[in-house]
Amino acid sequence: MKWKCLNCGFEVDASVEYYWKCPRCSSPLILDYESTCEIVESKNVWERYRGFIPFKPGKYRGEGLTPLVEEKIGEHRVLFKLDYLNPGGSFKDRGTALAIAYGYKLGFKKTLVDTSGNTGISVTLYSKLYGLEPIIVMPTTAPQGKKKAVLKLGGRLVEAESRATATQLVTRFMSEPGVYYVGHIWNHLYPIGHATIAYEVFEEQGVPDVVIVPVGSGGLLLGVHYGFKKLKECGLINRMPRIIGVQGYSCQPVYRELYGTEEKGEESNLADGILVPNPPRTREIVEAVKSTSGEVVLVGNTEITRAHSELWEQGFLVEPTSAATYAGYKKIMNKIPSGSKTLIVLTGSGLKTL
Ligand SMILES: [Zn+2]
Repeated sequence: MKWKCLNCGFEVDASVEYYWKCPRCSSPLILDYESTCEIVESKNVWERYRGFIPFKPGKYRGEGLTPLVEEKIGEHRVLFKLDYLNPGGSFKDRGTALAIAYGYKLGFKKTLVDTSGNTGISVTLYSKLYGLEPIIVMPTTAPQGKKKAVLKLGGRLVEAESRATATQLVTRFMSEPGVYYVGHIWNHLYPIGHATIAYEVFEEQGVPDVVIVPVGSGGLLLGVHYGFKKLKECGLINRMPRIIGVQGYSCQPVYRELYGTEEKGEESNLADGILVPNPPRTREIVEAVKSTSGEVVLVGNTEITRAHSELWEQGFLVEPTSAATYAGYKKIMNKIPSGSKTLIVLTGSGLKTL
């Protein structure tokens, strides 16, 4: 397997060397590896989809293979993917399980990440499984429950003023010996891990017509796109779902890149998980949305609060960021043809944000 830069052509053997971004041109790298496209019967997600991933992680905590619950809403079939039921309480565990296994293989001793919260819990959880020391840089504004979870799991928590200063602060730790900058918004192992959502949905329900996901760093959107694309390349499906991303009015970098303008609206800071100002893979996210005739929808706090209450009433105990996705669905549901199968990924547990 190789790390490759699609911008300048840089490449390196990924089993020997790790770069969190291209050392020549600073673009995000992709991981290139062989796929057999084989699905085998197993309750372990990494054994089941070994034919789609670059390597099988040594440790497993029950991540992936989450329930898919179908509800009829109006004339739509809505498939809720309950990814908040992952071990660390979010979909991030899918990417983290691969990313930390990789860092361990390469001999790193410490892991480092800047995060709004869920990735911090996830990286701490998997780092501890491998005996690595996690350093988690989080904004002070992150929900208390997420910080407590990092500490309880044994992570070293470093607080920064904001999500942006957290990103600056990590550079201070990067030069420490043995440190693996996981950099989940850069690391291609995250989309590759998150792609397992597509494989699982495909096995249960085939290809949905529409997929709706929240977009912060875009790892989930890229992962779902990567997964369905891989299934298509493998000849297992013959069409792609329309991919719709949801952002908040307070932070709309992907919307801006796609439509060339910003839209004014209400604050959206309740969806803390998608307040990522400059996702490095913005261009790739926009390409994924465009190539599937998708779109980006913006929501604000009032819509998020309403959607959050509705989801809890239906028994989905998710956090506000996940509710932003449902709010986005409600906003455009009239445009979705009746009878369509719509996949909504419920990303994070609400028990950390009470
Ligand atoms: Zn490059």
